Amino acid sequence: MTDNPTAPAPAGGEARSPERPPAPRGPREGGRRDDHGRGPRRGGPSGPGGRRFFRRRRVCKFCVEKIDHIDYKDVAIRQFVGDRGKILPRRISGVCAPHQRQLKVAIKRARNIALLPFAAGHGA
Ligand SMILES: [Zn+2]
Repeated sequence: MTDNPTAPAPAGGEARSPERPPAPRGPREGGRRDDHGRGPRRGGPSGPGGRRFFRRRRVCKFCVEKIDHIDYKDVAIRQFVGDRGKILPRRISGVCAPHQRQLKVAIKRARNIALLPFAAGHGA
């Protein structure tokens, strides 16, 4: 038992506690609770399920260019028609509701004068 130099065995020689544990209940023990909060915290701004890639910008092209009336003779409406001749939904094209309504009319008029196809893949 010579590995305990800090216990010089005070008076009396009473072997009461030659190996006292080094104060396990310090005042800092309550601070360990802060480490507990790192587990379930997972809803950060860059967490999974966030918008990683946006398909298109969420602005209406007609609103940006301040087009009040969509002309059915405008070739720009072709980009709102898909490859199969269908009108793109607003979710994809990003057109706002009033402009999508005008665009719908414009595309249908353009179809009637054979500027746009009703559907692709027929007879060709
Ligand atoms: Zn718009």
